[in-house]
Amino acid sequence: METLHPDVEKVLFTEEDIAEIVKRLGAKITEDYQGKDLVLIAVLRGAVVFMGDLMRAIDTKCAIDFMAVSSYGNGVKSSGIVRIIKDLDIDINGRDVLIVEDVLDSGLTLKYLMKNLASRHPASLEVCTFLWKDVEGKQAAIDPKYVGTHCPDEFVVGYGLDYAERYRNLPYVGVLKPEVYA
Ligand code: 5GP
Ligand code: MG
Ligand code: MG
Repeated sequence: METLHPDVEKVLFTEEDIAEIVKRLGAKITEDYQGKDLVLIAVLRGAVVFMGDLMRAIDTKCAIDFMAVSSYGNGVKSSGIVRIIKDLDIDINGRDVLIVEDVLDSGLTLKYLMKNLASRHPASLEVCTFLWKDVEGKQAAIDPKYVGTHCPDEFVVGYGLDYAERYRNLPYVGVLKPEVYA
């Protein structure tokens, strides 16, 4: 039984849930990328925890790299226009790229990033997202090949996801108490 952080109202996905999801995704990716030239790319900083777990659940040759992006504009809504703060160190030309994401909401950030990566001519380009907020009446701009789990349309924290750079280190995914935002 894990102790709950005092700011957390409820847990959506426990450590055990997460371990099971990662194991399933890792096995599928291992199968699909046998004999390929897999490169896992995570977008800093939210996807770091998922990346660390997922790469260890993959049992086929793979490289990893990271990108950091910053969204233009203000507000909490994704504008879809991003600036690359840190680019890849490796060349993805002719390789099988899998973008590792923490959460897919509007998908606008990722759509922009995929267009950018596609221009570097990878052999294939797919997305693996841990959470997908694919709720009724909301269409994401991209279609991920691998989805850890569907997620309610709420602001979640933990397992890499932050609120004002906090709570990334929680081992579970949860929702904060309303007074935390006040
Ligand atoms: P999108 O472009 O798909 O709308 O936004 C994706 C990005 O917004 C994610 O990579 C993440 O950084 C942030 N985001 C979206 N939903 C949540 C959420 O529920 N919690 C947190 N902490 N970040 C979120
Ligand atoms: Mg992200
Ligand atoms: Mg954030």
